[in-house]
Amino acid sequence: MATNQDNTTKQRKHVDYTFYNSRQWRNYSKRFRLLCEVCEGNGLYEPADVTDHIVPMRQGGAKWNEHNHMGMCHQHHNRKRGMEAHGVCVVTAVGVDGLIPNDRGEIVNTLLAKDRQNEDLWIE
Ligand SMILES: [Zn+2]
Repeated sequence: MATNQDNTTKQRKHVDYTFYNSRQWRNYSKRFRLLCEVCEGNGLYEPADVTDHIVPMRQGGAKWNEHNHMGMCHQHHNRKRGMEAHGVCVVTAVGVDGLIPNDRGEIVNTLLAKDRQNEDLWIE
């Protein structure tokens, strides 16, 4: 447990709390927190815990564009953040209010490929 908390703290260092805690974001983002789109890509129905900005805001990702939002379970969201920390990023396109993914399937496929590489780590 301590390790998870440490990781979470580390990963949230660059998170804009004011934005994520705003009533506007919390209300808006609910609609994306249905099923984890990555798990769904693998035929699994897991609840989404977070609404991810596929292209992170700190990299110019669109804040309010639904094309840049994806519901994810904690595991996939943490894995994506880990990959971003290693410089992995999706191909982007220019949306009206910032960058959006060129193909949202790319992040699903990238994360599922990573799952397969780390299959042994999925045993809980
Ligand atoms: Zn998932």
